[in-house]
Amino acid sequence: MVANATTTAKSTPSESGTVALPLLRDSIDATIAAERERLMKEAGLTVGPVQHFKRPVERNFTRSERGKVTIWLGGLTLRHEMLIVAGLEGLGYKVGLIPTPVKADFQAGKEFGNNGQCNPTYFTVGALVNHLKRMRDEQGIPLEQILNDHLFITAGACGPCRFGMYEAEYRLALRNSGFDGFRVMLFQQSGGLDQAAVEAGLEFNLNFFLSLLNGMFMGDILNEVAYQIRPYEVVPGQTNAVFDKCLKICQEALKKKNYDEVHQGALAKILAKFAPVKGPADAAKFLDQLRGTYYADVFAECAKIINEEIEVDWLRAKPIVKVTGEFWAQTTEGDGNFRMFPFLEGEGAEVLVEPVATWICYMLHQAGLKAGDRKGLEKTPKRQNTEMPKQDESDGSQSVGVGDRGDGDADRPSRWNLKARLAAELAFRKKMFTFDIAEKIIKHEYNKLREAIGGTAHELANQLELTRAGHPYYNSRSGGGEGHLEVAKNIYYSSKDLAHMVLSLKPFGCMPSTQSDGAQAAVVSHFKDIIYIPIETSGEGDINAHSRVQMALGEAKVKCKEEFKRAIAATGYTLEQILEYVAREENRDLRRPLLHVTHRKGVVGKAASFALDVAERMKKEGVAGGTNGPSECGNNGSARQDAELECASA
Ligand code: SF4
Repeated sequence: MVANATTTAKSTPSESGTVALPLLRDSIDATIAAERERLMKEAGLTVGPVQHFKRPVERNFTRSERGKVTIWLGGLTLRHEMLIVAGLEGLGYKVGLIPTPVKADFQAGKEFGNNGQCNPTYFTVGALVNHLKRMRDEQGIPLEQILNDHLFITAGACGPCRFGMYEAEYRLALRNSGFDGFRVMLFQQSGGLDQAAVEAGLEFNLNFFLSLLNGMFMGDILNEVAYQIRPYEVVPGQTNAVFDKCLKICQEALKKKNYDEVHQGALAKILAKFAPVKGPADAAKFLDQLRGTYYADVFAECAKIINEEIEVDWLRAKPIVKVTGEFWAQTTEGDGNFRMFPFLEGEGAEVLVEPVATWICYMLHQAGLKAGDRKGLEKTPKRQNTEMPKQDESDGSQSVGVGDRGDGDADRPSRWNLKARLAAELAFRKKMFTFDIAEKIIKHEYNKLREAIGGTAHELANQLELTRAGHPYYNSRSGGGEGHLEVAKNIYYSSKDLAHMVLSLKPFGCMPSTQSDGAQAAVVSHFKDIIYIPIETSGEGDINAHSRVQMALGEAKVKCKEEFKRAIAATGYTLEQILEYVAREENRDLRRPLLHVTHRKGVVGKAASFALDVAERMKKEGVAGGTNGPSECGNNGSARQDAELECASA
């Protein structure tokens, strides 16, 4: 180094007696350090060694605590949650529900949590904090008892979205609000429950899985069917009352189900030998689930009640709005998405909700894609690397045998190691088979329930189809949030004539959702007929959001009105004639809520499809046609028709 003569630092004599000239850099570093210290002091920050964050070790939840400690959960729709609670209670757990988050929770999340989180984080974290505060301040439960006798279970994940930060965020907010030490257990999005953290308090066994999945699927289907019926109910409030009754029946069934009573037959013993289950007892439960009709029978009973106790008028022309977006924003039924579902229904729409099962299938499908992409790259079991690195004489670099990583820890089989390559191929095929069979089982179980309750709920969307539709716009390997699903669902539901409009609910601060919003611009420019509206959800701005939705809904209503007009014109009957026919005593089946309406290409609305179906039946029965031709449609003197079409366009 060359000393700089312009330095002002003092020179000091060295041991040899020579004088070492000070370096300019030393002087600058010293000045920077002094200034940093001054600024840190000024900002009230203590200067000291850096302390890296370490995930706190959670107190265990042990088996002996199971009947005593209440497990709190939340985050889905009320029906989902009530069914899951019933199932877990049946397994011997004490479970409670955190109420659906509201704006006050959002404020609490902001107050006690970090800045810069996404909207669902604030709502859900705040909901837990406020719930504990109510227990402490309103119910008078001592803090120590809250910490010892209660815990919270939530989902966790890793990846690019903030989902991975939820756990830390819960802990921070709990500490800041005076509940330091409250237990937060994680149910990982990938990798299951952290067993080490919970010991055997919460047993992650087949009983737990089956109960959870059945509760989840029942919640999905009950929700969808209720949303299909409510806009057409003749007596306001009837749908909710009947579905409350059905929910109780389903809860009872989930609570009563005793998986340990399932009989182990010979087939279970055989299955246990090659299926990935723990033993004959688990194999028997698995078979019971696949072949049994326990929950399907419960749903069949519900279908009877729904069909008997609710009467509908399918001739109300209502635009169908498919709700998509970020998982929580499209699921929650409270302030977290501006109470969008009741708002849409109040505005005259039929809402098509998203089942949680789609998300489960998506995760399985993504795992399959990842395994396919990584084929040939995965580590094989550890083997001793006996091959010495070879020296390249030209440049002195070292290399190892073909396919070897040279780390001696994990490697890929070399080209000529046929045995190892065959083993790797078989392992890959087994893995893919497992993903495939798991998806098939989920669909089978979902369909069994769907059929049992009338078959009007939609089948689960095909994941491969969704990937193919979405990938050209949003790379299907790009994980986090809903990944390519938001884009794919927009194309899927619009191009299959399943919805007049797609509404995407996107939380503020959500990176994956913001990305897909950018891609949607390309989608709507390629699919000109799509009515798509993204809404950023937040803890404020309801009026603005509702007003934007109203504008898009206006377009959807026009689309729906035109379609209904065309359908009535095509029937050869007037709307009044169709109404009169439907109202006949002997045609009660046409007023039942679980009636199947034929889905035709180019016809989205239920009223239009229903009118076409009824007209076919009227023709078969020889009912004389009306006088209106296509040009007269909507102007035939029918007060109901005019009102209906006006309503559809309003
Ligand atoms: S997907 Fe978006 S909103 Fe949801 S947790 Fe991740 S970052 Fe937050």
